[in-house]
Amino acid sequence: MNIRFDGKRALVTGAGRGIGRGIVKKLAECGAECVALSKTQEHLDSLRKEVPGIQTVVVDLADWTATRHALENIGKIDLLVNNAAIAIASPFLETTKDKLDKVFDVNFNSVFNVSQIVARDMVKRGNGGAIVNVSSVGSLIALRNVGSYCCSKGAMDSLTQVMATELGPHKIRVNSVHPHLVPSTDMGISATSSFPSGTLEYILSRIPLNRFPDVDDVANAVVFLLSDKASNLNGIALPIEGGYGAN
Ligand code: NDP
Repeated sequence: MNIRFDGKRALVTGAGRGIGRGIVKKLAECGAECVALSKTQEHLDSLRKEVPGIQTVVVDLADWTATRHALENIGKIDLLVNNAAIAIASPFLETTKDKLDKVFDVNFNSVFNVSQIVARDMVKRGNGGAIVNVSSVGSLIALRNVGSYCCSKGAMDSLTQVMATELGPHKIRVNSVHPHLVPSTDMGISATSSFPSGTLEYILSRIPLNRFPDVDDVANAVVFLLSDKASNLNGIALPIEGGYGAN
């Protein structure tokens, strides 16, 4: 399938590392002009060496007002990927308000904030657009000891449906992807490092395809949903988990 985004401008959050970085590379390969947003300047500098020509924005998405300022003159955005997120390991009974707020500020409130800024402009321009929210299997099933993360992704899923419903009439499609554990990223490494021995093998044995998704699996699904090949897909939640939910 030949997917091209020539003449389109994309904003990807959490683009400095991991899945977001992979998404920027893939979008650029497909001809999109990319704006890569992340918290750490050096990660974006190294991305720019790999993908010359991208625009970068450094901002802490947990800061609502700073994000508004950082994006106020961003210009036309046709494609948005809300990918940045954090996970704080903490059992339900021990999770403090501070931890809950930190996770929700990045994983949910910032998605609301960035999407509102971008979608308002999309509506004003009248050319439609596409948005993909990077959720997780953690919004569909409970993952132990990361309750705040699971709940933040559940809230994101609800927002995906709200946006799909309210923005659809403006030809703006909003969908989500739900990867299983991606062990190769920093978030994946941090998650697996706390697993008791044998846990990873057990989870893998329950995935019919017998492999975890990698960054490319997620980036390919995101690129598809952003593209015109998905022009009648709106409000869908696409699992990327090798059939885990099927058994
Ligand atoms: P990483 O931890 O590897 O990368 C996260 C990215 O988000 C980094 O570039 C980081 O910025 C950025 N980021 C984090 N906090 C902020 C902030 N406050 N402001 C701006 N940028 C921020 O995560 P992954 O690549 O693994 O995850 C990407 C997405 O995929 C997330 O939404 C995650 O929930 C989801 N996902 C991941 C899975 C996994 O197992 N890895 C499984 C299922 C879903 P910087 O580099 O600048 O510090």
